[in-house]
This record gives sequence, C-alpha cells and structure tokens, in this order.
Amino acid sequence: MNVIFVGPPGAGKGTQATRLARCLGIPHVGSGDLLRAVRAQDTPLGHEAKEYMDTGRLVPDDLTIRIVEARLARPDAVNGVILDGFPRSLPQAERLDASLGRGKTTWPDAVVYIKASRDVVIERMAGRWICQQCGSVYHIPAVAPSAIGRCDVCGAPLVQRSDETPAIQAVRYDVYEHDTLPLIDYYQQRGVLVEIDGEQGVDAVTGDISAAIEEKRGARPVASGSGSQR
Ligand code: ADP
Ligand code: AMP
Repeated sequence: MNVIFVGPPGAGKGTQATRLARCLGIPHVGSGDLLRAVRAQDTPLGHEAKEYMDTGRLVPDDLTIRIVEARLARPDAVNGVILDGFPRSLPQAERLDASLGRGKTTWPDAVVYIKASRDVVIERMAGRWICQQCGSVYHIPAVAPSAIGRCDVCGAPLVQRSDETPAIQAVRYDVYEHDTLPLIDYYQQRGVLVEIDGEQGVDAVTGDISAAIEEKRGARPVASGSGSQR
C-alpha cells in the first residue's frame, strides 16, 4: 500500500505517519528526515540543502527527487511506503506519478490531508522537541516526555530544530500555501484524498486515519497490476 501525507508544517504528519507505518509494516519515508541527513554532511550537496532548509524554502526539485527516489529504490520499499512531506509541489507529484506510480492501476492508494489552521501549526512547531539520537518527536505540553528534556525511548537529550524560529516558521507556512496546497485539488480530482481534522488530540487523529485507510484498503481491486503491492 502506498500512502502520502500532506498538510502544513507542524500539522502532525510525521507523528501520524510513524504510527501508520508501524501498523501497516511498511517504511515511513520523510523527505525532511532524508534532507536533514544530507544537510548534516560537509559536502557541496549538504551545503546546498542547508542554504534552503535554514531559510524555510523548498530544496530544489532535482536534489530532493534524487534523494527520495534513491530511498524508494531500496528493497524494503517494494511492498509500499508511507511518504511524509513528499511530494510538496505539483512538479514533484508529477515526477512521483511517473516513477512509483508507473504501471499501477491504483496509485497512490490514499493521500491523507491533515488539515490544521495556521495558528495551530505555529503553536505546534514552537512546542516541538526532537530526540537528537533516535528522532522521536515530542511536544511540550501536548506530547510531553516523562523526564524533562530526555527521550522516553532512548534517554538522549531533546533539542529544538534549527528551522523552528518564528520567522522561518512563517516562511515555511507561506511556502506550504503557495507550493503545496495545490496538491489537495490534484489528488482530490483523482478520488484518493482523505481529509482529516488535525486539530484533535493525537489519538483521535490516529483513529480517523485508521478508519479512512481501512476503507481504502477494502475498496482496492484484488490482483490489480500492482504486482507485490499490498
Ligand atoms: P509535521 O511532521 O507535520 O511537521 P509533527 O508530527 O512533527 O508535524 O508534529 C508537530 C508537533 O506537534 C510535534 O511537536 C508533535 O509532537 C505535535 N503534535 C502532533 N500531533 C499533535 C496533535 N494532534 N495534538 C497536539 N500536538 C501534536
Ligand atoms: P520537514 O521536516 O518536512 O518539516 O521539512 C524540513 C525542510 O526540508 C523543509 O522546510 C524544506 O526546506 C525541506 N524539504 C522537506 N521536504 C521537501 C520536499 N518534498 N521538497 C523540497 N524541500 C523539502
């Protein structure tokens, strides 16, 4: 099964994509995570990614698509993936249709649109804390760790993202409205869009997504041309 998560920055895509990936037993591929790994390298590509990410702009398509496609070519992606943060623009969506979607009768199986207002996502980004070792995501106070400043999973210190200042958050939200929001219409016209109220608590959002995915799975044609896809 292939599921794409779309929504404003801070809406809860990563939180929910992690849960759905665990439930379906397929990888969670976050383009932001892949690009942060590139940015951390002291290489020309790392410097290029850093320049865009640290100002809240989208990393150019050629670099982003190359990084995501390399991840999708790995063997563990053969039964499908949960894509989080990619595609983020119409050219990226068209490119994905031409690669991952090629030859499939149902592609993608679902696009989960986590809808939340600007005020809500700005507050969520401001309260986001990440484990610097295992990447677990918290929010203070909504998804707080049991010990202040320490990850519940591995005990490592929690940090805030470098692109989480109010000025960069504002740019990221504007970029979302300009470049990413058109994807909602694009996927709605294909009948694969599922709109979820992202302003509820984490478990309520998970419940709505699970119900929607179950419905999509039930509606999928049996033995379509999608080979080993689930
Ligand atoms: P995205 O991947 O869309 O940028 P995240 O999943 O990282 O968003 O969530 C942004 C922040 O909001 C994190 O700190 C996360 O713990 C928190 N969060 C996610 N979902 C909810 C929710 N439903 N209610 C409150 N806080 C949430
Ligand atoms: P995220 O972790 O999803 O919040 O993404 C962090 C940053 O990575 C974004 O602000 C962009 O600079 C970059 N990024 C992530 N995904 C994409 C994408 N699909 N296209 C271009 N840039 C991206």
